[in-house]
Amino acid sequence: MFFFSSTYLIYMIPAFLLMALSSWYVKSAYNKWSRVASQSRLTGTQAAQQLINAGNLYGVQVQGTAGNLTDHYDPRDKTLYLSQGVASVASVASVAIAAHELGHAMQDAEGYFPLRFRAALVPIVNIGSNLGWILIMIGLFLRFTQLAWLGILVFAGGAVFALATLPVEFNASARAKHLLVQTGIIQTSEEQRGVNAVLNAAALTYVAGLVTAVLQLLYYVSLVSGRRR
Ligand SMILES: [Zn+2]
Repeated sequence: MFFFSSTYLIYMIPAFLLMALSSWYVKSAYNKWSRVASQSRLTGTQAAQQLINAGNLYGVQVQGTAGNLTDHYDPRDKTLYLSQGVASVASVASVAIAAHELGHAMQDAEGYFPLRFRAALVPIVNIGSNLGWILIMIGLFLRFTQLAWLGILVFAGGAVFALATLPVEFNASARAKHLLVQTGIIQTSEEQRGVNAVLNAAALTYVAGLVTAVLQLLYYVSLVSGRRR
């Protein structure tokens, strides 16, 4: 089966290493700064609540969610889901993550275009990741190159989604850094350093996600263009 050919490994090993490295980097930044208490002594939930009030984001709820580093904002029920380690621990990492998720709630309230664009891609990505692969395989099997290229086009939706994720995430983190200083939730330059470390590490995972999606796409392109000759 050519799916696990050596060419595939050449494309995917760098992606795998980058994903592993960025995931390690996030965990180590999180572990370090979740042990450093913020001067304000606010937990993630308290910081989120304070930022909701400061930003007049009425209707935005805060709830707990299971797991570690599973924090997210769900625009469907306008709720910040904070993991236990963020929700109930007063640390620099907690307030950084809570403020980042609140950044997404602000984007949602404003109708921030990159967020809406990315949400519109979700159904395409869900269908495309399977359909694209099937079209590529059938196209290659039947030596119907146009069909394989159509599969690549459909599959490319995943890379576009990963690309569209970057402005959404970078913007949420930029908002978080600004809000935390503006509201006085963080005060010292040491705390600012911690907030930057946690949020920049998280940003790197989205860059790694994009690199992986692009390498995967390039692998399929090499497969299809190689077959044509
Ligand atoms: Zn985010």
